[in-house]
Amino acid sequence: MAKKTETYCSFCGRSSREVDLLMPGINGCICSDCAAQAYEISREYLAEKGKDKVKDIDINDVPKPVAIKEYLDQYIIGQERAKKYISVAVYNHYKRLAQKNDDVDIEKSNIIMVGPTGTGKTLIAKTIARLLKVPFAIVDATVLTEAGYVGEDIESLLTRLLQACDYDVKLAERGIVFIDEIDKIARKGDNPSITRDVSGEGVQQGLLKLLEGSIVNVPPQGGRKHPEQRMIAVNTKNILFICGGAFEGIERKIALRLNTHAVGYGADAASKRIAREKLLHYVTPQDLRSFGLIPEIIGRLPILTNLEELDRAALRRILVEPKNAIVKQYVKLFSMDGVELKFDDEALDYVVDKAIEFKLGARGLRSIVETIMIDAMYETPSTGKKEFVVTKEYAKSQLQKANFEMMQQVN
Ligand code: ADP
Repeated sequence: MAKKTETYCSFCGRSSREVDLLMPGINGCICSDCAAQAYEISREYLAEKGKDKVKDIDINDVPKPVAIKEYLDQYIIGQERAKKYISVAVYNHYKRLAQKNDDVDIEKSNIIMVGPTGTGKTLIAKTIARLLKVPFAIVDATVLTEAGYVGEDIESLLTRLLQACDYDVKLAERGIVFIDEIDKIARKGDNPSITRDVSGEGVQQGLLKLLEGSIVNVPPQGGRKHPEQRMIAVNTKNILFICGGAFEGIERKIALRLNTHAVGYGADAASKRIAREKLLHYVTPQDLRSFGLIPEIIGRLPILTNLEELDRAALRRILVEPKNAIVKQYVKLFSMDGVELKFDDEALDYVVDKAIEFKLGARGLRSIVETIMIDAMYETPSTGKKEFVVTKEYAKSQLQKANFEMMQQVN
């Protein structure tokens, strides 16, 4: 009887006894270790090759500013000015990517949005990224520190972008990064020589090279750079940076500046009559500087726009109007159980009243509605009911039951 011949991996030469798994092919075998290695090599190769597949931008394929704004309108209530500025900035960004000859170099139109928290800054950036189908990452400026301090290296904000597109560097190089809370890295004080604030100013300096466009070595896993870690080189030249911040107290700087002007020109202090909340409308780069951003950073964020505090009417609209409005989401949830859900107008007004009363803004709308609906969501699917109407009385009793008011006071 013929002796059973030993089989070997055609790649590493080890026998079937030395490996976990040996897979036979037509003319040879491959072991599981070599297969895994081959997979890695081919993945890297294909990723490298795929880089060339990122298409050139044809400006005719990019939505026009009016179309961009119309898209934003479907999701973002109010903030007309910010939506318009951003639509133009994004369109120009794509023109820049599409430019062929370099006689006139269109500069990058990074954006900075100033406005109270919960007014839609992140939502605008997210919505833009969805429309343009580009990788998008949100990072919080507060976690960034300059090298040598506890926190994340500045380059790590590009890690998020790489992760968002499965480490496809070419795609990431056309992505959008939203840097939230940029105001938190402001220098504390106007005079750098007296109140030198290392962390804030150092981070701003570090951010500079990213904003202006350079090749940056990015740690693939984020966090701190380790000498043994392999870095990924990312060119930030075509990455659009959108920064957002509440810049609490900047109104005072604006008011101060406006008054000085008014006096200088002998005006009747008209600026004094500008309502406090409208002051943000007049924000200029100069005010950002007084707030503590370094001039070089401001220079790299040429598009400056503001978002308004959301009033009662806007909050009411946010509940029902956006494409994925909170109310629409609950109606859909109930409809999946065959239940028609309705909200009385008074109930919706009540939700808005509570959001204002607790100073929760748009962010609070969802938690309030959630608290009101929890029992109904728990019980209705088992009751066989075909309709559920949320009245003001019901909303009120649910909030009281959940001690919502107490919860808010504690927080
Ligand atoms: P921030 O200005 O602090 O970045 P966000 O964009 O994160 O605020 O807003 C928080 C939430 O509030 C959003 O996810 C959205 O549900 C709601 N929201 C805020 N502003 C608006 C707006 N203008 N239109 C529609 N929804 C909004």
